[in-house]
Amino acid sequence: AASFTTVEDGKLTMATNAQFPPYELVSDGEGYEGTGFEGIDVELAYALAQKLGLELQIDDMDFDGALVAVQNGKCDVVLAGLTYNEERDLVMDFTDTYANGVQVVIVPEDSDITTLDDLAGKKIGTQRGTTGYIYTSDEFGDDAVSAYDDGATAVQALMNGQVDCVVIDNAPAQEYVKANEGLKILDTEYANEDYCIAVDEGNTALLDALNTALDELQADGTVQAILDKYIQE
Ligand code: GLN
Repeated sequence: AASFTTVEDGKLTMATNAQFPPYELVSDGEGYEGTGFEGIDVELAYALAQKLGLELQIDDMDFDGALVAVQNGKCDVVLAGLTYNEERDLVMDFTDTYANGVQVVIVPEDSDITTLDDLAGKKIGTQRGTTGYIYTSDEFGDDAVSAYDDGATAVQALMNGQVDCVVIDNAPAQEYVKANEGLKILDTEYANEDYCIAVDEGNTALLDALNTALDELQADGTVQAILDKYIQE
């Protein structure tokens, strides 16, 4: 028998923000295995749930809400292209990493921002509660940085000229630039990060079970196959 318990018996409840392609997005159709959602984290969570003998339940919410939900025992895990960092590690526990993330800068094609040095004095758009927000507000001050509910809304603000750039993870940035005419991504990387799964602080039984399952899914090539399916280099 499993040594861990979950919020709902027989289920692995995952909190995420499904405005973060290709890691998580709302499906036009039934979604992956009928979940209503698609993406790297969705397929990985499904595979992990199967290994643990659980049914996957996905709760879609704002990104910062997902971080609170896991600390309040409203969900078992956060899979949300979630970056490991030391501050977060004080209030939740992280699995081993399963993917690499890079914070990049999206600008209009005709922008005078060409390197990171040009960001000073500009209006920066980010997603609330993300590392993109944390880094830019640390460096340029709160007043320079606007925080939006999700990446799609931040990019909309850029399209409308309310901000001069958006700092966000590379994988969704690629998707947003594809979907919106007239945007590009700067060559220079703002920060390099590890994506991990979060559980509530001290939930060691579930953390250990997830790390064991993740290990197996990495060893048999499942994790790489999921990444390759969604990210074309
Ligand atoms: N990787 C970023 C972070 O953890 C953004 C994640 C997200 O917006 N889903 O803060």
